[in-house]
Amino acid sequence: MKSIRYLYRIGNGPSSSHTIGPSRISKYAVKNFPNADHFDVTLFGSFALTGRGHMTDRAIVSSCAPIPANIFFDYKTKTEHPNTVKFDIYNKDGTHKILWATSPGGGSIRIGNEKSAPEPEVYKEKNFAQIRKVCEKNNWTLVDYVVNREGEEIFDYLGEVYDAMMDSIERGLKATGELPGRLHVKRRAKDFLKSLYVDESEVGNSFRLMYAYAFAVSEENASGGIVVTAPTCGSCGVLPSVMKYYGEKYKKPRKTILEALAVAGIIGNVIKYNASLAGAEAGCQAEIGSACSMAAAAYAYLKKEDIDGIECAAEVAMEHSLGLTCDPVGGYVIIPCIERNAIAAIRAVAAGRLAEYAHASNAVSFDTVVETMYKTGKDLNKRYRETAKGGLAESFIRAMKKGSKKPARPKHKKRIIDAK
Ligand code: SF4
Repeated sequence: MKSIRYLYRIGNGPSSSHTIGPSRISKYAVKNFPNADHFDVTLFGSFALTGRGHMTDRAIVSSCAPIPANIFFDYKTKTEHPNTVKFDIYNKDGTHKILWATSPGGGSIRIGNEKSAPEPEVYKEKNFAQIRKVCEKNNWTLVDYVVNREGEEIFDYLGEVYDAMMDSIERGLKATGELPGRLHVKRRAKDFLKSLYVDESEVGNSFRLMYAYAFAVSEENASGGIVVTAPTCGSCGVLPSVMKYYGEKYKKPRKTILEALAVAGIIGNVIKYNASLAGAEAGCQAEIGSACSMAAAAYAYLKKEDIDGIECAAEVAMEHSLGLTCDPVGGYVIIPCIERNAIAAIRAVAAGRLAEYAHASNAVSFDTVVETMYKTGKDLNKRYRETAKGGLAESFIRAMKKGSKKPARPKHKKRIIDAK
């Protein structure tokens, strides 16, 4: 497995696979083909179907600058990976070259037939069972394990990651108005802090604040703002919400918070290397489910759980995300994505709390649930894997067409139907 640096990427939303990945592929093309006159860039699969809503086209054009890029959407040609892009490179000397690339999720990229991204492997262990074994043998905690493999300097990077997460919360809590795109959805993070929504009970108050934080980050993401892939842009609100709320509630020092991020990173890494983090490959369980697992593990660490408690929290969080489909309305990372982040933050804490009581008797291992998630994702009908053709993406638009569901903003009805 590679460094958790490549799991936590800081970049512009709204999608790690559809904006950060394509942006990195574009920069690769610019760097490796400096004599290009222009690029004709063709998007396939999920890139073609949801690329406009996910701002893939904009990410490519801006990352190719100053080399001009023309974008084409190919809805018909089948490719091996759903997030595939082809660059036709037209050089100034009249020659022509082709570059194929894919964006498998979390901002990773694969160029041509490369089997994996060109980053070094720093973890020999391939799954959680192997990690547990090496920890037991050396009497390490999961944090010791990360430090042994990555070095203490990983905390410098995790500090940048944490600061970027908190910045996105602060920006999101201040912002007002509508999110970009044709859905005309209002930003709501700030509203959760207003008295109208205040529930005086402790539980109600904690929910309200976690919702506010998760909405703040997710709305920044939907606006193309800077977020951290945790593990993806679409699911970027879950972990920061839990970290901020419980970091402050328990008055944890910065070092402990960064350690919790390292623990969450290991959980995300195990999912990344044994399954998938991409909604286009395995549905929303791969994005929100993974974020929920990571946040549950971070919460368990903040509550001083040992490796058993952390594994149980991560397992329970994923187990109860199984089957979650990816169905972004209009191809935007807005409905249902933003609310899913908020609910997953609460679910992560619920999983962590269940683990406090249940870890000794938990029957399912984390590796087993990760394998299950991947198989379930592969079994999902393609419509539920980031094509914006199934689930809410289909029924919401259909209801709008029939007029059977009153839209939030009826005057924009036609524009919403045109979103695809
Ligand atoms: S539905 Fe889930 S996986 Fe799909 S775009 Fe939204 S957050 Fe990502």
